[in-house]
Amino acid sequence: MHAIVVTEPGGPDALRYRRMPDPVPGPGEVLVRTRAIGVNYRDVYVRRGEYPAELPVPGLEGAGEVVAAGEGAEVAVGDRVAWGYGRAGYAELVAVPADQCVPVPDGIDWQVAGGALLQGMTAHYLLESVYRPTPEDAVLIHAGAGGMGQLLVQWAAARGARVITTVSTDEKEKLAREAGAWQVLRYGDDLAEHVRELTGGEGVSAVYDGVGAATFEASLASLRPRGTLALFGSASGRVPPFDLQRLAELGSLLVTRPVLPHFLRTRAEVRWRADEVFGAIADNTLRIRFGGTYALSEAAQAHRAIESRATTGSLVLLPD
Ligand code: NDP
Repeated sequence: MHAIVVTEPGGPDALRYRRMPDPVPGPGEVLVRTRAIGVNYRDVYVRRGEYPAELPVPGLEGAGEVVAAGEGAEVAVGDRVAWGYGRAGYAELVAVPADQCVPVPDGIDWQVAGGALLQGMTAHYLLESVYRPTPEDAVLIHAGAGGMGQLLVQWAAARGARVITTVSTDEKEKLAREAGAWQVLRYGDDLAEHVRELTGGEGVSAVYDGVGAATFEASLASLRPRGTLALFGSASGRVPPFDLQRLAELGSLLVTRPVLPHFLRTRAEVRWRADEVFGAIADNTLRIRFGGTYALSEAAQAHRAIESRATTGSLVLLPD
């Protein structure tokens, strides 16, 4: 089979298209011929060597047809399956833990199946299990035109919350508004001040921050007393070490640094989140907007695009 391989961590050119031996599914795994593979910001951190354990083949998300099932696997040969947290994903064949695979419902095409679950299930746990916004709440969601951002904005707005979001350009502002944002702001020193003005001085109930170093201080300063900061990513770099005493001074704030696998701990949890994502796509609560599709061999181009900050929406690799 062909796969994208990283032998030395580095820039996008570290992603090389190579022939590799076909993976062999172990107990509880299934072998899947991929039809669409999601590209996520997390894959950039992996390629750079910031999550070294998963190489040589990066990627976690995809969809395809089961071609072989190991002992104990729940799914059968021929099933259409998708996963948001598998492994070794940038490849024509992938051995995926069967307990992470969910059936792809009729009406969901390969591109959506392969590119929606990782971000969709992340949006689900952030809005369902970290802080659940209601119509009483104003919330701040950073990078509202990005892959995660558009999903969070749509879903939080559908729950009736007033969504304030940040973007870097006019084009992105338009997309964030289309997704349902109530107010769209630019990043900058006076961001928290604007958030306070918009909330009558109170601040927001929760901030969903996947930008990290560049926004962390403004995120804290935008919260109401006992507000929640869900720091779920670091697209601009990691947040430096932090004195917990400041949380008391800022208003008994809650800060968490969640990651998807801790919210997919049981088979029931995987099915619940994936079914709700596919259900929200089917009833148009979530519209998946693709920021680009690339051949598997063009993975480096996809990484360049996402890192250049130019993309708006999910990116997908399509094997030949
Ligand atoms: P995006 O499509 O959102 O791309 C990142 C966006 O961040 C950019 O488009 C840009 O939007 C904004 N940004 C702000 N500052 C920078 C910077 N210095 N460099 C690059 N981008 C910047 O990516 P994803 O939707 O794939 O991921 C968003 C975040 O969510 C990432 O941090 C990712 O790691 C995280 N994530 C976390 C998960 C978890 O479970 N914890 C799971 C999935 C994703 P703009 O130009 O408008 O500012």
